[in-house]
Amino acid sequence: MQETATNGAAASDKQLNFLEEIIERDLNEGRCDHVLTRFPPEPNGYLHIGHAKSICLNFGLAKKYGGRTNLRFDDTNPVKEDTEYVDAIQQDIRWLGFDWAGVHYASDYFDQLYEWAVLLIKKGLAYVDDQSLEEIRRNRGTVTIPGTDSPWRNRSVEENLDLFNRMKQGEFADGSKVLRAKIDMSHPNMQFRDPIMYRILHAHHHRTGDKWCIYPMYDYAHGQSDSIEGITHSICTLEFDIHRPLYDWFIEQLGIYPSHQYEFARLNINYTVMSKRKLLQLVKEGYVSGWDDPRMPTICGFRRRGYTAEAIRNFCERIGVAKRDNIIDYSLLEFSLREHLNKVAQRRMAVLNPVRVVIDNYPEGQSELLTAINNPENQADGTREIPFSRELFIERDDFMENPPKKYFRLAPGQEVRLRYAYFVTCTSVEKDADGNITCIHCTYDPATRGGDAPDGRKVKGTIHWVSAQHAVKAEVRLFDRLFATEAPDEAPEGKTFLDNLNPDSLCTLTDCRLEPDLSNVSTRDKEQQKANEAWEPQHFQFERLGYFCLDSDATKEHLIFNRSCTLKDSWAKING
Ligand code: ATP
Ligand code: MG
Repeated sequence: MQETATNGAAASDKQLNFLEEIIERDLNEGRCDHVLTRFPPEPNGYLHIGHAKSICLNFGLAKKYGGRTNLRFDDTNPVKEDTEYVDAIQQDIRWLGFDWAGVHYASDYFDQLYEWAVLLIKKGLAYVDDQSLEEIRRNRGTVTIPGTDSPWRNRSVEENLDLFNRMKQGEFADGSKVLRAKIDMSHPNMQFRDPIMYRILHAHHHRTGDKWCIYPMYDYAHGQSDSIEGITHSICTLEFDIHRPLYDWFIEQLGIYPSHQYEFARLNINYTVMSKRKLLQLVKEGYVSGWDDPRMPTICGFRRRGYTAEAIRNFCERIGVAKRDNIIDYSLLEFSLREHLNKVAQRRMAVLNPVRVVIDNYPEGQSELLTAINNPENQADGTREIPFSRELFIERDDFMENPPKKYFRLAPGQEVRLRYAYFVTCTSVEKDADGNITCIHCTYDPATRGGDAPDGRKVKGTIHWVSAQHAVKAEVRLFDRLFATEAPDEAPEGKTFLDNLNPDSLCTLTDCRLEPDLSNVSTRDKEQQKANEAWEPQHFQFERLGYFCLDSDATKEHLIFNRSCTLKDSWAKING
């Protein structure tokens, strides 16, 4: 095992991150002879891009060192948890491309945790406290002021055992008692001021049903769960670093397998929020269409929007692991997506905001097929045929009646190339009573078929188009940032993060025209929809417009495309 580790490291010429350094040190010094990590989501919401970072890290590290990763549901709070989330979490991890060694639940350990709590009571290291949560908070002191001992702190072991057992039997009301570790009420680390281990909660648990009415707190459950599974490296986010000594304390007092905790900086991205509580609020209060709304920073939201698992993994790799908090620019996510889709997405032509064009010198009733390249980045994708005819649609933006200098698209008297087709020159326009252009008249040069003039004549602009009679209709959804401000969590007095929502984050275009080939796009079938499987849409580049994919709600009869991201520099590309 150790050998694999060293070889693995040698194979990569990149510098080790601090977690890799720790693991290699542990393996080399014989502190462990294998690597077992875990990803421990609380099933109280869907996974977001921050979790993706943690997943890539936990699974990635184990893989690199020939180890394994457990999936553990940290289900110690029955009130907020649900099997819907358990299923969605597994689906998202699989979709990201990872598989776990075993699925575990903190609730599987409730019996063991209870026994250990009894053991701590017997050792004089835990007691039942009758103070209210409010009193406990007040008596905890502050960083500079020591806490005050609870009047119940010196109960006898027998009394504590009896009360704890009766707490378990359901004799007491919620909030009337807690079990606390007996450590030191004036400890400089506040976590050591007799932390709460158990609270009473008469609530139905999604797995243990009504068996328990006392539930362990995170600090008491997490380290022990790691230890039970034999986790070698328990990786979590920075805010838990002050909990680490307590994590070690419980393990030490119980004399169980010494798992160790290591912290890294959580992923923050600008223009979005990442707390599950806030994401849940967006869903519940209808600010978005669901957890998988393409504007959501959730994994299923990204998937529906057209992000690929590879793009997300590359993003996580690119940002690396830091020990200090930072904020990553949203554009880095888009960069990773473009990088991948540029390689794999087939090109198509689509007109989002159509205006009609008539080629007056093209024979009426005639049409022809032109050859288009599916993906210039991948020869193997080959070519396809697109129909051309006398009446076309082009983008409204690609015509100006009175163009400024350097406007190289279509304008009266100006010649442009229709992608893959011909050079055309605008001769006149028709308008309605309000002055809106309803039709653009052009002539074409038959000698320029395929897009080049035999006389060497150049045009400065190339625009995309679709044949009016052959085009298929579709709805297209364009997305902008969900929040208008860079740090939406920071709301001024009297406002909340909701006040920072971007009112224009969704733009729905209902009269788009696509080249006919796109009617063959595969839709999500009814069975998949019912089974709620992760559905991977086909990805396309609509030339000059961005990357798009079919929405999971679309049908053959009602095509809906989502724009995954724009092209960085569409103009340079097509004119260059
Ligand atoms: P939230 O605050 O969004 O509810 P959480 O930390 O409570 O997140 P958990 O389900 O407990 O969510 O998280 C599971 C794992 O994912 C934990 O190890 C946690 O540290 C990690 N994680 C959560 N958010 C991030 C993030 N933004 N960046 C990196 N890791 C994260
Ligand atoms: Mg949590």
